[in-house]
Amino acid sequence: MVRTILQKCTACGAYGLAEICKECGSQAQAAGPMRFSPEDKRAHLRRKMKNVESKEWAESLPSPDDGGEEE
Ligand SMILES: [Zn+2]
Repeated sequence: MVRTILQKCTACGAYGLAEICKECGSQAQAAGPMRFSPEDKRAHLRRKMKNVESKEWAESLPSPDDGGEEE
């Protein structure tokens, strides 16, 4: 599986997908874990993986109907 990691330029801070900054030509490095990125481009894939639109998934969630003292 090919992973595309967001790169951040070490010189100007521009983001890109290449290891060489397209803005200034400097070295760019991985911008860090994307797990909490607000721009989660893989969110739809993970949702699909977890089958979140299925009834089973919905029922696996904590529900206020359960008596609901869970945090
Ligand atoms: Zn740059």
